[in-house]
Amino acid sequence: MSEKLVVVTGASSGFGAEIARQLSALGHPLLLIARRAERLEALNLPKTVCRTVDVSDRHSFERAIREAEMLFGDTDCLINNAGVMLLGDIEKQNPSEWEQMFSVNVLALMHGMQIVLDNMKHRRSGTIINVSSLAGRKTFEHHAAYSGSKFAVHGISETVRWEVAPYNIRVITVSPGAAETELLGHTADANIKQEYLDWKEQIGGVISASDVAKSVVFAYQLPQDVCVREIVIAPTRQQN
Ligand code: NDP
Repeated sequence: MSEKLVVVTGASSGFGAEIARQLSALGHPLLLIARRAERLEALNLPKTVCRTVDVSDRHSFERAIREAEMLFGDTDCLINNAGVMLLGDIEKQNPSEWEQMFSVNVLALMHGMQIVLDNMKHRRSGTIINVSSLAGRKTFEHHAAYSGSKFAVHGISETVRWEVAPYNIRVITVSPGAAETELLGHTADANIKQEYLDWKEQIGGVISASDVAKSVVFAYQLPQDVCVREIVIAPTRQQN
């Protein structure tokens, strides 16, 4: 088998599903992870293992990766894409939403890296792609906890990149601006949600999941000794 195993978390919708489609078209065997199994199966991709995993459960995350590795060989690339955005006013927001965001957006991403890094170090090859956000580089109203979680992704990714660079392992951070996915759907506050939708319309629309996926695949396809450290990709008309 020439193309190597790629693990994509959050592959049941949005960026993850598009990344899976594009990598599959290039011949990669895949492990697709999310909680909605039927959405993973509906992608109907060849050489693909779909696993219902909540990435905040380290044990099932690791078990899925080891199972896929038994079938397809070592993980060449882990794409930590699973994420939640629950916008809210810090004074009113249910703290369980902060916990969920830090658990999925930050801790699960660290668990994912720990699961695959040892083997990558031995092989002196591998790629980790962490999906952050423009909200991981600058702040936006009602984004306190989300933005905090994504700033953490930047700090963690850059530190780990520095640490594993001598082992020829790439750590790439991708920071999209506003894009059309299911992400906003989970925000509970109807007013905040509406403001966001109005803003999207005001700037004349947002970018597609497919365009973001293309940038991820582009960075991965470059030779192993070339590391695109960060990609910031946003709608041209998005000013902030
Ligand atoms: P979607 O909501 O469409 O996708 C999020 C994915 O994450 C889904 O597949 C969801 O699957 C998965 N997910 C969420 N929680 C868990 C969990 N506990 N365990 C496993 N999987 C989980 O949104 P996007 O495609 O937009 O989001 C992908 C990434 O991009 C996120 O990290 C997001 O923060 C980031 N991003 C998005 C932007 C945008 O404008 N869309 C802008 C900047 C960054 P399921 O529900 O089936 O578990």
